[in-house]
Amino acid sequence: MIDKELLEILACPACKAPVRQEGDRLICTAPGCGLRYPVREGIPVMLVEEAEKPGK
Ligand SMILES: [Zn+2]
Repeated sequence: MIDKELLEILACPACKAPVRQEGDRLICTAPGCGLRYPVREGIPVMLVEEAEKPGK
């Protein structure tokens, strides 16, 4: 899983909000953004192009 210190310095590249871990995804905590970033082999992929839009 992702190192806690790493998680604390990561931010959503779209809106600069902190992210939280949920399973194998990192989810932007900003209301109205909520992009979901994949984690591949323990490495967070903090790219807007790779992110999933939030579901309903
Ligand atoms: Zn965001």
